[in-house]
Amino acid sequence: MKKKIAILGSTGSIGTSTLDVVSKHPDHFEVVALAGGYNVELIVEQAIKYNVKAVSLANRELAEKARFQLSSDVKVFYGEEGLSEIATRPEADFVVTAVVGSQGLKPTLAAIEAGKTIGLANKETLVSGGHIVMERARQKGVPILPIDSEHSAIFQCLQGEEHHPARRIVLTASGGAFRDKTRDALKQVSVEEALKHPTWNMGAKVTIDSATMMNKGLEVIEAHWLFDMPFSKIDCLIHYESIIHSMVEFEDSAVMAQLGTPDMRVPILYALHYPQRLPLDVERLDLARIGQLTFKEVDFDRYRMLKLAYQAGETGGTMPTVLNAANEVLVDKFLNKQISFLDIECMLASVLDQHKNIENPELEAIFEADRWARTTASNMI
Ligand code: MG
Repeated sequence: MKKKIAILGSTGSIGTSTLDVVSKHPDHFEVVALAGGYNVELIVEQAIKYNVKAVSLANRELAEKARFQLSSDVKVFYGEEGLSEIATRPEADFVVTAVVGSQGLKPTLAAIEAGKTIGLANKETLVSGGHIVMERARQKGVPILPIDSEHSAIFQCLQGEEHHPARRIVLTASGGAFRDKTRDALKQVSVEEALKHPTWNMGAKVTIDSATMMNKGLEVIEAHWLFDMPFSKIDCLIHYESIIHSMVEFEDSAVMAQLGTPDMRVPILYALHYPQRLPLDVERLDLARIGQLTFKEVDFDRYRMLKLAYQAGETGGTMPTVLNAANEVLVDKFLNKQISFLDIECMLASVLDQHKNIENPELEAIFEADRWARTTASNMI
């Protein structure tokens, strides 16, 4: 039977890669619902190509534009409710959550309540609401399958190891666009330079998060929830080539790693068809040609954002929500050339400092902390 898939964030880089994977295996997968943001043209094209009967856009105006171009049997939704609508479509049994930012939390929870299997690419969902999301998924018996390349790697390394507790997990990190720059040189860097990622081709927000290593910080918190690991057992390692996607060390000191050329379609397909594998024609790994793999210890003075993320994760409560929300605002300010690259971490540290943490927060407290962090970060000069 075909797996019926809804994609939240279909016009972004994970969304388009998911559609590509689906089109390579039409016997196994069918797309039934799509939620995008502002790119009307692309979502209309996707809806027609995949014969999708439900789509959602960022707002009413865009939804009306899409409405004109789609046949009358296609349902068109918009906004926050539209996202949840797509996440809970009765015809879907698998939901890929690939929207960017904390807007992913509500629809992911809605999908869990509706009993859908989750392919999770939106890390902010676990960063902000990890304690709620994992608990609800356990209660509903809903699998949460990681799509983030690092978490997919760890997940793959843990297969068949249920009775062998991991001693630690190691998340690899490319080090981002500025990995060879000194801390001093970072004072001068431009937006254009920050957007040049050495190994992965991703959206602007994630690319800046890679340069600051906040992306790794969010992934550390994500790994904490996904694999039920204390922060003291989650390490990061700079790995230049992005060939080893992450590793697990077991009690006997054996280390399992998952390798491959950097291509998101591999973890996407693994999540979509777990626990089986399907053929996929991507560039194959040729270690003889690559010659050598390069590693470097993470310097927390160099990557202060990563340190802030570990601290926020350890503190828990609403602190990770604030970390993420303030970071989103500050990255946006940097992209709009309102603040400098190093201002991002300075201002973030200051927002975290001012926050009055709430332990074990309910959803409303999470959203309140999110709003507070955004306002506080926005007002910073
Ligand atoms: Mg990643």
